[in-house]
Amino acid sequence: MRYYPVLLDLVGRPAVVIGGGAIAEGKVAALVAAGARVTVIAPGLTGGLAARHRAGRFAHVARAYQHGDLAGAFLAIGATDDPEVNHAVHAEAVSVGALVNVVDDVPYCQFILPSILRRGDFTVAVSSAGHAPALAVRVRERLERELGDEYGRFLELAAELRAPLAMAVPDFQRRKAIWYRLVDSDVLVLLRAGQEMRARARVAEITGVELAGASGRESSAEIAGRSRPDGPGTVYLVGAGPGDPRLITARGLGLLAQADVVVYDRLVSAALLEQARSDAELIYVGKAPGAHCVQQDGINDLLVREARFGKMVVRLKGGDPFVFGRGAEEALACVEAGVPVEVVPGVSSVLGATASAGIPVTARGLAGGFAVITAHRAGPEDCHDWAALARMDTLVVLMGVERLPQVVERLLANGRTPDTPVAIVENGTLATERVIEATLANVVERAQAAGAHPPAVVVVGETVRLRGALTPRAATDLTADLSAADDRHVA
Ligand code: SAH
Repeated sequence: MRYYPVLLDLVGRPAVVIGGGAIAEGKVAALVAAGARVTVIAPGLTGGLAARHRAGRFAHVARAYQHGDLAGAFLAIGATDDPEVNHAVHAEAVSVGALVNVVDDVPYCQFILPSILRRGDFTVAVSSAGHAPALAVRVRERLERELGDEYGRFLELAAELRAPLAMAVPDFQRRKAIWYRLVDSDVLVLLRAGQEMRARARVAEITGVELAGASGRESSAEIAGRSRPDGPGTVYLVGAGPGDPRLITARGLGLLAQADVVVYDRLVSAALLEQARSDAELIYVGKAPGAHCVQQDGINDLLVREARFGKMVVRLKGGDPFVFGRGAEEALACVEAGVPVEVVPGVSSVLGATASAGIPVTARGLAGGFAVITAHRAGPEDCHDWAALARMDTLVVLMGVERLPQVVERLLANGRTPDTPVAIVENGTLATERVIEATLANVVERAQAAGAHPPAVVVVGETVRLRGALTPRAATDLTADLSAADDRHVA
């Protein structure tokens, strides 16, 4: 290991910066922020430094560096554009025992400065040992996206908690276990969702230590039970994936595991719901085709209402929320109500069911594009451009079982040839997946004979032919008994 990483406590310590340019400005700002007693030695200052100096943030010696300037210094930074001056600064620092950094001149540095990410007191320092600072910057940026302000706020809570928890739980091992429970809990998620009061209530629940709420006196039970603790909670529109519970995204699963309320559809698997907190409220708003259980307005109102109670709401939707899921309406209802909403995409059945059945939606030489439609619009209120759809290499039809005859008829009427391969993928990605293969000429008859039922995607196009090659054991006969198809998935 070349460098020994430390975090320096500079409060009240003399630090000397030689140079008054743009680079010095950044160093001075950081040193002042860390509480150091800063002296800048430079004939002139940048505008920013001059303003800081007028505000009394540091002392300024308005001349060039002279030997002796580092007397008593704890830390020195050489930030002039003259290497000779910088090297002289380095030599003096070494002789007086001050830590020294010469900007951009690693051989003259006793310490180097990492790339820093700060969230309040939460600090991440990334260093490339000076070999590739750009890499350190990129890694920091990556962490910036991942680690929000909630980390700083968590540390504020932790700072409040530390002493009372040590009193309440004197045993170190037990206390340590509690700290880990706390950092692994939903407290960070609640803070991220802006639910400070709920976060405090959770801290109290986990640690047994009551922290003062914003009001100072409320008990955690009162806080948890109160409606609208501090503004609305967030509604997360989460794509659950096409069926197989393992196909939800990592982000979706993480949110699901933290939610206070989970509002879910018929196509969402029970295995996923088991991932919700045991005390989460699970609300079913599923719609079987034709049988609307809860009207869309009712769902929108429900999401808004629960969020306004300050709850973290996960709206779990089959596939992707924005693919025929009425996700846009739900998101808009939240926005209009002033409720924060985030959409977490999911693997749509468009891609999930087809992939699972061994049908690529594009393939070099066979299909250069694909279109996705709902067959609902193939009814009387039809407004699809069937001429264009008939020319599409691959056509994926959702909600297509009921209106299959109309879809087929329109494609044929618009010039798609009768021998075009078609597949119906029922219960895609699930253990009960079944694939019915046919052509445009006979798919209606075969679907009927096989008793095709929703949920299913209908795929029209040449890539359906790849299925045999991609799923060697796939039942090729569309009336193939279900058990054979099942075996493939159970195996
Ligand atoms: N948002 C969903 C689609 C909702 S519309 C998505 O992105 O997948 C419901 C339709 O999706 C069903 O009628 C069916 O066409 C399709 N679908 C959903 N789950 C499916 C599955 N496991 N297998 C095949 N099709 C499915």
